[in-house]
Amino acid sequence: SLPRDCPADVERLGRHTWTFLHTTASYFPPSPSLAQKSSMLSLLTSLPTLYPCSSCADELGSYMKSHPPKEAVEGGRSTLERWLCEVHNEVNERLGKEAFNCDNVGQRWRDGWEDGRCD
Ligand code: FAD
Repeated sequence: SLPRDCPADVERLGRHTWTFLHTTASYFPPSPSLAQKSSMLSLLTSLPTLYPCSSCADELGSYMKSHPPKEAVEGGRSTLERWLCEVHNEVNERLGKEAFNCDNVGQRWRDGWEDGRCD
């Protein structure tokens, strides 16, 4: 019979959610349409309401009050990638994890590393 998987814990949910969010930001158009901008803004602003880790959702909601995503979304791919990298770094810092260099976000999530590591 097939191996059975278990419900996601906070760590696995987080890893997979970051994969989705960073990858989606890295494929967001440099010059998004109105519809793309409005959908992206809905996706991000719904997380503090819907993300199924309530303490994570609360922290994210406070962070987004002082760092709203609107301008980042308006600016298109590169400003959105950076905004999201900074959101993730705030969580990293809170959890005692290393900060990620936001200059490398395109290599990590879209283009692959310059040394060919992901070919
Ligand atoms: P993750 O932090 O999941 O990172 C996955 C990969 O992303 C890394 O291996 C790295 O290659 C890359 N990466 C790391 N930092 C960045 C960055 N700044 N920009 C781009 N790429 C990066 N957990 C809690 O315990 N408390 C919380 O309050 C909490 N809040 C969260 C809020 C959100 C919105 C999300 C999506 C997750 C949250 N988590 C929280 C989960 C936590 O962030 C991690 O996902 C989890 O601890 C697993 O960590 P990890 O070490 O596997 O790497």
